[in-house]
Amino acid sequence: MQLKTILNRIQKHPGFVYGKARLVEYKEQLALEIEMNPRANGLAHCSCCGLLRPGYDILPQRRFQFVPLWGIMVFFLYAIRRVECPRCGIVVEKVPWADGKNQTTTTYQWFLAGWAKMLCWTDVAKVFRTSWETVFRSVEMAVEWGRSHMDLEGVTASPDARLVKSLVF
Ligand SMILES: [Zn+2]
Repeated sequence: MQLKTILNRIQKHPGFVYGKARLVEYKEQLALEIEMNPRANGLAHCSCCGLLRPGYDILPQRRFQFVPLWGIMVFFLYAIRRVECPRCGIVVEKVPWADGKNQTTTTYQWFLAGWAKMLCWTDVAKVFRTSWETVFRSVEMAVEWGRSHMDLEGVTASPDARLVKSLVF
């Protein structure tokens, strides 16, 4: 079974496809890098108004950390596009796996926030070889998400939180 098959099963992003994957050394540890590519139509979501807009240019490739696999760090590699939006100007596109300038994917943030309910934040950072700040920001994101999704039914679990639960707990 290919890695792409698993990723498409657990986390498919409309408008994007998983590309090549390779094992590399990153900060003296084994890491798995997976390329993300946009589909060929050239349109991207404006991060300001959220509408589909034509591409303007492409920024240097960035890495976004995903949930580790078999203890191996996992990164998505993606060169964010800028779009030319008649309403907002030239702005970066919105990608579905991370918010704003975040280098940690939303799914990994939910994963860390889930563990932070059971272990102290320092231990979570140690076990998953990440920083205390990353754990802190993940918990903060989960709390914010919970606050903004309160309704009469109570707090609804986010799709990412449900995915993480099915992977880990
Ligand atoms: Zn816009």
